[in-house]
Amino acid sequence: MEDSPTTRSGAVDYRLRPDGVDVVGWSCPADGYSSAVVAFACPLCGERMVDAMFDGLGTVWSFTTILVPSPSRPDPYTLAYVDVDNGPRLVVDVSEAEAPNLRVDARVELYIDKNGRASAAVAPRGAHE
Ligand SMILES: [Zn+2]
Repeated sequence: MEDSPTTRSGAVDYRLRPDGVDVVGWSCPADGYSSAVVAFACPLCGERMVDAMFDGLGTVWSFTTILVPSPSRPDPYTLAYVDVDNGPRLVVDVSEAEAPNLRVDARVELYIDKNGRASAAVAPRGAHE
């Protein structure tokens, strides 16, 4: 699995798997603080961060639908904050089809959509597009 391909969405790297993605990141061995962006020292205690890989499953912390037009994507579009299990909180896309299913505390899985964006789906693992 270490040779699995990775892709970048925003500032975060994802390792692609047949049934989803893992989030590439760092964690603090002293207190468990985690990050998906480069962090050499823990902002909480100063300990040196170590490489970590987080399963692409998590819980919705919050979400919002953006109604303001953007040059980079059609509107409206939905973004979700997802607390990755034992990992960092990430902002990811939510497809138009998935947006009505979203709830705070909903269990979601992350995947890379056809536009290369990290997205969340409330669906059984591997059941989304
Ligand atoms: Zn720490």
